[in-house]
Amino acid sequence: MTDATRSSRRSGWNKLTPSERVKELAEWLDADPNDLRSLFEGGGLDAAAADALVENVCGRYALPFSVAPNFTIDGRDVWIPMVVEEPSVVAACSNAARMVREGGGFRAEADDPIMICQIQLFCDDLAKAREAILENKARLLDIAGKQDEALARNGGGPRDLEAREMRDPETDENFLVVHLLVDVRDAMGANAVNTMGEAIAPEIEKLTGGVYGLRILTNLADRRLVRVSFECPAEALALKGYPAEQVVDGVVSASRFAELDPYRAATHNKGIMNGVDPVLVATGNDWRAVEAGAHAYAAKSGRYKPLSVFRKNAEGRLTGRLEMPMAVGVVGGATRAHPAARLALEIMGVKTARDLAILAATAGLATNLASLRALSTEGIQKGHMRLHQRSRHLQK
Ligand code: NAD
Repeated sequence: MTDATRSSRRSGWNKLTPSERVKELAEWLDADPNDLRSLFEGGGLDAAAADALVENVCGRYALPFSVAPNFTIDGRDVWIPMVVEEPSVVAACSNAARMVREGGGFRAEADDPIMICQIQLFCDDLAKAREAILENKARLLDIAGKQDEALARNGGGPRDLEAREMRDPETDENFLVVHLLVDVRDAMGANAVNTMGEAIAPEIEKLTGGVYGLRILTNLADRRLVRVSFECPAEALALKGYPAEQVVDGVVSASRFAELDPYRAATHNKGIMNGVDPVLVATGNDWRAVEAGAHAYAAKSGRYKPLSVFRKNAEGRLTGRLEMPMAVGVVGGATRAHPAARLALEIMGVKTARDLAILAATAGLATNLASLRALSTEGIQKGHMRLHQRSRHLQK
């Protein structure tokens, strides 16, 4: 991550021109501002690269590339790049980071990058098939591991196999769901685990006499969670006309509302994804995968819940905690193929998928805090519409 001795704090960044911000960004990166300007002028991606990335390409579609300063995460100062079309998200994110740094910043941790490939197996005797698979676990893991030498060289590979029985009350069709657990290191891991799942499925058929069905990862990446928290002095949250303690109580009350009501929880979680998704887009990551995982995890108890919770501690400080799956990579997919995505990773100074997961989740908790603070006081429309006005003249 970024050099711990540098401060990420910037005041008045919103008043600079894009060209002035690029100059500061170049200083932050120790890069030539002209290189950055020419990268941004081309939208970060040339026509040939766009055509190679996906199919049926006719052109390129540009979005604003912004940077949210002010973040302190585990004692390190970081700038977070964000690519998003919605006004006020970047401002809210930077603003909340400024408040939280007054309490020492964010704390974060992430699980090992374990992804799961599901293999569906139709057979008559589910218990016997399960037993046969688990008895041959070592051999199956070995076959899976041989599919990805680059992953193995980087310390990753298959770690475990699990199997559970599934009964469909509607069709009376029973099947086994085999989970192949793979440490995907610095990749998002979808292709890596899908390849392994497809390789072991025929072996599982032979072992059990069954017939395989689907072989695909699950986006409910619940072995790959990231947890971010903060503790913020009440005074840092005060705003004109709203005493600090009232703001803290308002944010806590908004959290309780989301904890009790799925209608509110959906919008609460959208406020989190407002911070997460722009980091994923900026770094060329698959935001649909993370979105799917986030909402499935939010509903894992059988009831849709907020991914973050806020409380007031004994000293009257606001505490916030977010936990969610975060399947992201710093290799693979578009992460290294898109020049602007490579730049985004460089701005954050992240070298591992774990570091990126932490930064994306932190941006999520920051935007979440900013929106709850506004919602429980003056409402979001005042700030939102002021920023929205800036693009009014563009409407056709
Ligand atoms: P990938 O196959 O492009 O890259 C991963 C590979 O990089 C690894 O398998 C490994 O061989 C290699 N590698 C080199 N250095 C590594 C390191 N340090 N750590 C880990 N691996 C290293 O991509 P992927 O991450 O397997 O899959 C991501 C892509 O799959 C994304 O484009 C995503 O959109 C897509 N996808 C998603 C889904 C889904 O989410 N449901 C389904 C299919 C595909």
